[in-house]
Amino acid sequence: MRTITLKDVSKTFYDKSRKLTPVLAIKDFNLRVEDGESVVLLGPSGCGKTTLLRLIAGLEQPDRGEIFYNNVPLDEIPIEERGIGMVFQNYVLIPHWESRKTVGFFLRLRDREEEVPAHVNTVANITGVDIESLMGRFPRHLSGGEKQRVSIARAFARDLELLLFDEPFANLDAKFRAQARVELKRLIQEFKVTLLYVTHDQVEAMSVADRIVVINAGRIIQSGPYHKLHDDPDSLFVAEFLGTPTINAFWGRVSDGEWDGSYLGRAALPQYRPNGSEVIVGLRPEHISVCDKERGIPATIDRVIPFYAEKYALLEVWLRKRRWRIQVPLGERFQPGETVHCQLDWSRALFFDAESGDRIR
Ligand code: ATP
Repeated sequence: MRTITLKDVSKTFYDKSRKLTPVLAIKDFNLRVEDGESVVLLGPSGCGKTTLLRLIAGLEQPDRGEIFYNNVPLDEIPIEERGIGMVFQNYVLIPHWESRKTVGFFLRLRDREEEVPAHVNTVANITGVDIESLMGRFPRHLSGGEKQRVSIARAFARDLELLLFDEPFANLDAKFRAQARVELKRLIQEFKVTLLYVTHDQVEAMSVADRIVVINAGRIIQSGPYHKLHDDPDSLFVAEFLGTPTINAFWGRVSDGEWDGSYLGRAALPQYRPNGSEVIVGLRPEHISVCDKERGIPATIDRVIPFYAEKYALLEVWLRKRRWRIQVPLGERFQPGETVHCQLDWSRALFFDAESGDRIR
């Protein structure tokens, strides 16, 4: 079992030819992952997720700060004693190795090859998938899903303490991906390992994580369980990044101590703001409803998108050159071009400072 601690870690990439501006990939990063915890690093493309994982794996060196495994500096632990299993997006299987050789790599290094079948069996039993039949094949004879299983089996076939997964299921179709997540969760519970998992897919984050760490531009923006980040975000960035369909952001100004959204109406602010301040109201599509004419704000339907599995339809509507999203029950008849009248549930509104994006509570 492992704890991982990052203390004020920063990493900049410099271009050797010095033609390009240096990229500050990770900035003053502090994180502690507890023993047996599953933490998902979630953030947009280029925010530094892979760099973080590579730093923790010891594949990159931080410019500043320190990384500890079980409170021991990473540099002081020999690579072969780190007990890290890694799975990356492209599986990185060696083309001329059969799966058996790939899976047995670490145990063979330690003259314990006889333990490989037992490891493969355990993985197969837990996941309920026949891996043995893949063992005699080369990567070119494996489908994407099979390669992914072999690389997961390889990650587990060692004295494992920490798993580092970097978008391991990104190349799988949706059905396979859902199944793979369930299998992974079972393996983690059985092996009681610490997991750091990188993704930009929030459904994946939700199903794998005990805790999600939202990252942007190399920094932690907020961390917590999914429902907390979704319902109680600290910033407009987190509010907009989490939640499907995306939250609506309505711009307004403070007047007479209230938020004034012009044609959208007025709303009480949770905290005093001087008149003239710019404030954004975030309202999720499920908190806007279609109502009768007299009470509602008129908007024109642009698109109707049905989500059959989730049993709702998303209406994309226009009002004065602004596009919003409204969630309505599936089966109600709406047509593009039609005018609907909407009601906003102000009790669910989230307020943000327009300049900093910080939540006003
Ligand atoms: P994605 O989700 O697209 O994989 P990411 O969040 O994993 O992105 P990183 O791969 O960690 O992001 O990259 C963070 C930043 O560092 C990016 O701006 C990237 O261009 C830059 N970067 C990463 N590796 C290098 C490198 N070896 N040399 C120069 N810049 C790099």
